[in-house]
Amino acid sequence: MAQVNTNSLPLFFMLTLQAFTFNAFAENTYVVFDETREAVIIDPGCFTREEQKELVSFIARNNLQIKYILNTHCHIDHVLGNDFVKDQYHVPLLIHPVEEPVLRSVKNYAPVYGYDGYREALPDQYLSEEEPVRFGNTSWKVLFLPGHSVGHVGFYDASEKIVLAGDVLFAGSIGRTDLPGGNFDTLINSIHQKLFHLPDETVVYPGHGPTTTVGKEKIDNPFCALSLIK
Ligand SMILES: [Zn+2]
Repeated sequence: MAQVNTNSLPLFFMLTLQAFTFNAFAENTYVVFDETREAVIIDPGCFTREEQKELVSFIARNNLQIKYILNTHCHIDHVLGNDFVKDQYHVPLLIHPVEEPVLRSVKNYAPVYGYDGYREALPDQYLSEEEPVRFGNTSWKVLFLPGHSVGHVGFYDASEKIVLAGDVLFAGSIGRTDLPGGNFDTLINSIHQKLFHLPDETVVYPGHGPTTTVGKEKIDNPFCALSLIK
């Protein structure tokens, strides 16, 4: 099983996930690495010096080699640290191509949320469902999960039974669909057609809040539980 929030690493492990909660939106940033210590940073939301330091020192302390920066989607809270980590590690930023206008729009509205210092980082490569994300000995399937945002993706590790699902599915909730590009029916479709087809024991690592499992949300998520379907 994947490890989460461990400060001391176990002797035997496949995949380790470290969650950080950053910025005023309480966004979950994840650093994920396997036994090779090659790592990816997902949705870097770090913005203050303290947040940046927390991320960098974790990576240094664990002797990680960052390979990619991945964005599940490009709302402001998930991309505030893109520029910083790109600058720090000189590694490519990967997003879904459909999400690029969402990323490019952030600089226009960042000051409204008090993030005048936001600096845009543009993608270097594009994600696709046809092409797994590989780092170390790890291979992740990219799931296209639109609805909360037009080009939202999730990252599924079938052998570890985990999915990093961004703002699609939360413990007891779902992503909001009132932002530009959001669509409720599309979101529900992504959840039912993609996430709910994963094994019940799959652990969901969301963009906000605590982890959950596919099986639990299938049963009692008030927005999309299968029991609601007549
Ligand atoms: Zn979002």
